[in-house]
Amino acid sequence: MTEYKNIINGKEVESISKRRFENRNPANWEEVVGIFPKSTREDVEEAIQAAKKAYQKWRFVPAPKRAEILRKAAEIMIERKEDLARLMTREMGKILKETRGDVQEGIDTGLYAGGEGRRLFGRTTPSELNNKICYTYHQPLGVWGIISPWNFPIAIPSWKIFPALLTGNTVVFKPATDTPASAYELVKILHEAGVPDGVVNIVFGSGREVGEALLEHPDIAGISFTGSSEVGRRIAEVTGKNLKRCSLELGGKNGQIVLEDADLKLALEGVIWGAFGTTGQRCTATSRLILVEAVYDEFLAMVKERASRIIIGNGLREETEMGPLINEAQRNTVHSYVEIGKGEGAELYYGGEIYQEGECSKGWFYKPTIFIGVRPEMRIAREEIFGPVLSVIKVKDLDEAIEVLNNTSYGLSSSIYTRDVNRAFYAIERIEAGITYVNAPTIGAECHLPFGGVKDTGNGHREGGWTAYEIFTETKTVYIDYSGSLQKAQIDTWEEQ
Ligand code: NAP
Ligand code: MG
Repeated sequence: MTEYKNIINGKEVESISKRRFENRNPANWEEVVGIFPKSTREDVEEAIQAAKKAYQKWRFVPAPKRAEILRKAAEIMIERKEDLARLMTREMGKILKETRGDVQEGIDTGLYAGGEGRRLFGRTTPSELNNKICYTYHQPLGVWGIISPWNFPIAIPSWKIFPALLTGNTVVFKPATDTPASAYELVKILHEAGVPDGVVNIVFGSGREVGEALLEHPDIAGISFTGSSEVGRRIAEVTGKNLKRCSLELGGKNGQIVLEDADLKLALEGVIWGAFGTTGQRCTATSRLILVEAVYDEFLAMVKERASRIIIGNGLREETEMGPLINEAQRNTVHSYVEIGKGEGAELYYGGEIYQEGECSKGWFYKPTIFIGVRPEMRIAREEIFGPVLSVIKVKDLDEAIEVLNNTSYGLSSSIYTRDVNRAFYAIERIEAGITYVNAPTIGAECHLPFGGVKDTGNGHREGGWTAYEIFTETKTVYIDYSGSLQKAQIDTWEEQ
């Protein structure tokens, strides 16, 4: 078992508190994956000061040179992909196929940043006056606080840290308490690739202590956060009061619509992967299946049959299809939603039970669960459960399907299965979500496209692709007057010169 330390100013340091916490394997709670420092405000202060100092140099390293270092980090990740994936499966439970994908998303994001150093385009425009040119370019903001959740332990921090560093910012990173080991490895790799001391610092500890210390600190220029809407609101309040930039990627209650002309086999694969992949613990998980009457009975039977064959177990085994939930609290939450669903009058169609057979006896496993007879106003149809629970809602037609899909405060991902291109475009226009998939499940984002949601899912920013670079930069507008005389915009006209 490894004892880990914070990394501040390029050095491994203990927390001033000397306190520790354990990181355990959710598939086997007897296995301790690592021991980590339970840091304090003082540790955060030290990390912020290191990042502040490092910023004064890092911001002047040419962007293509910063990019080379980040590309090197991605190359190291390629070499270590399998080890990183295995560690991630041990610390948070999702199956190897998915943890490999998580690391790959980090690699892709690093390679994208590696190219972006030679792009970071600004604009040039004509001036309204003679002998004058105008242009814009991107400047960094300073020190960023990066706060991440546990369900994508490398992918999500990569989405944030690579663009932040490429654009010349420095970072203090507080990973989720449930996935510190993967986060540590990512930060180590960045150092190995040549990121200078102090440019990226990692401080382990609770949201309440380490997270809060970042929010309120005057030397933090911005916060990039992915997590629950509840914590997101708190972050928006504090950063709003202090006029700091803040980008929020929050919860989801994503729906898949299946119309009568859909390829049902394809739609089946989509909903099984969307609802039960990562044990339903994705912000983009399919938690509602919206079926038109014409296919309701047939498709429902198909979903139940396939769900009942899902192989539950330790994610390190290649044949496992669904790992455990992240921890006891999350399993309790999932189970309590099952009780809520029953209480609301929905019919438990499959699952709804803790699963402890065989190798699963010491893990936080739960059966794939399906509710039918769900009405749009029920809590299980509107609230994020973050577990393998699918609420099925019957509708008469496409318009009702869209209305039901939009009947939640979230708006992250969405999906529609149909072979009718007209109805697909009709739906795309009307669905209230940041992302819509046609004939594909609600999960499956690619790192070079904007990612984020509408309504309570965020505050308008988009991570991923080129839009991530807008989050981490200020726009500088430059006017250069080479006329040699005072030219007054809006007052002088070019004819008079
Ligand atoms: P969470 O409880 O909101 O925690 C997210 C992060 O915030 C963790 O690092 C947590 O630290 C920290 N934190 C907690 N309280 C804080 C505070 N008062 N101040 C500052 N930081 C604080 O979310 P989670 O349970 O880890 O993740 C699940 C949620 O994330 C779901 O709602 C899911 O939909 C959302 N999510 C969204 C996206 C997206 O891109 N839209 C992607 C993935 C997940 P601790 O770990 O120490 O508590
Ligand atoms: Mg753990």
